[in-house]
Amino acid sequence: MLRSTRVITPEGTRAASVAVAGGKITAVLPHRTEVPAGCRLEDLGDDVLLPGLVDTHVHVNDPGRTEWEGFGPATRAAAAGGVTTLIDMPLNSVPPTTTTEALDIKRAVARDRVHVDVGFWGGAVPGNVPHLRPLHEAGVFGFKCFLLHSGVDEFPQLSPAELKDALAEITGFGGLLIVHAEDPHLIEAAPPATGPRYTSFLASRPRAAEDRAIAGLIGLARELDARVHVLHLSSGDALPMIAAARREGVRLTVETCPHFLTLTAEEVPDGATEFKCCPPIREAANQDALWQGLADGVIDCVVSDHSPCTADLKVGDFGQAWGGISSLQLGLPAVWTAARRRGHRLEEVVRWMATAPAQLVGLGHKGAIEPGRDADFAVLAPDETFTVDPAGLHHRNQVTAYAGRTLHGVVRSTWLRGVKIADHGTPTEPTGRLLERQRTV
Ligand SMILES: [Zn+2]
Repeated sequence: MLRSTRVITPEGTRAASVAVAGGKITAVLPHRTEVPAGCRLEDLGDDVLLPGLVDTHVHVNDPGRTEWEGFGPATRAAAAGGVTTLIDMPLNSVPPTTTTEALDIKRAVARDRVHVDVGFWGGAVPGNVPHLRPLHEAGVFGFKCFLLHSGVDEFPQLSPAELKDALAEITGFGGLLIVHAEDPHLIEAAPPATGPRYTSFLASRPRAAEDRAIAGLIGLARELDARVHVLHLSSGDALPMIAAARREGVRLTVETCPHFLTLTAEEVPDGATEFKCCPPIREAANQDALWQGLADGVIDCVVSDHSPCTADLKVGDFGQAWGGISSLQLGLPAVWTAARRRGHRLEEVVRWMATAPAQLVGLGHKGAIEPGRDADFAVLAPDETFTVDPAGLHHRNQVTAYAGRTLHGVVRSTWLRGVKIADHGTPTEPTGRLLERQRTV
């Protein structure tokens, strides 16, 4: 049993005791409930008990690019940061997850090494339409595709015709397509990024490229009555059209990322390519629009897009450096720090980072503190601060755009199915399981 004066449940925050048996939450009881004989009590005092976060956008890169990241270090970072479930992206690993054979290889590599529960996205690439249904049957949570070069040659983008074919197939079996939405023609027409100036990189990835790609996806989702999810939304300009499409009943969901909500183009120093990602971190005014999108419920989820590489690939030239930001361990404090400054409540952060992502991937037993769900928790001291020291991060290459920042919210401990998996930032043994899409969604 875990007890706190502040337990975040779907009905709000209250003092409660959460009963756990067999890895599940069995009841949310009054705070001063008598503890049954033989039951252990963990009294958390005034620290907040919230559901373990569900991060549906993580690049583990294992096997194949394990010098970039791996199931061990990535899931240790997750556990230390209060994340209890992650869904691994299908690219940057070799092989990419575009066939069931590749999925089997990933699962074999991950098994027994993961500190949190891990599921897998499949990939939609040119020529693999016949593999999509088998991957779906094998339990992937949906399919990722690109509309322009992905950054790695073994995961090519779809042409407009291939996109439509893949989406028709996926819709046929009730699946979900998740899309890196930037229009290739507008990116090609933009001035290429060169040199150490962030303004050059920003100009090479205009908002209009995202806006046009999303407009195309809305049209396709409407035409095929398909479920489409927009990954890592950065352009605030796309929000009105997304809101309109959703009002009309188009089945479109949207995520954004901690870096878009907490970092701005104006503050990126010259040569600081640890801030490079695609689409890019944009101006402060654009960030305000994204926060408004969250407040309005137009953006559903906040997930990390943790995408590390080795330090040597973060060269000082924005045209040459690998694009990706590592934040798996820091997402909760980073988002909470900005959210509280803007007057948002911790309950909202929990909805964006746990409940909504779990719902996106149909994990009905994750993402909330209520009876019947897994006893996955993060224990947070929301008013305490710490300064980010890259040496304290568990992901493989300790490069981070958050180095030196002072953040609110210290994760005291993390619990997976009722067992403590991280204590004051130190992960314990790997007890995570591999997840499959639930059949009864
Ligand atoms: Zn990504």
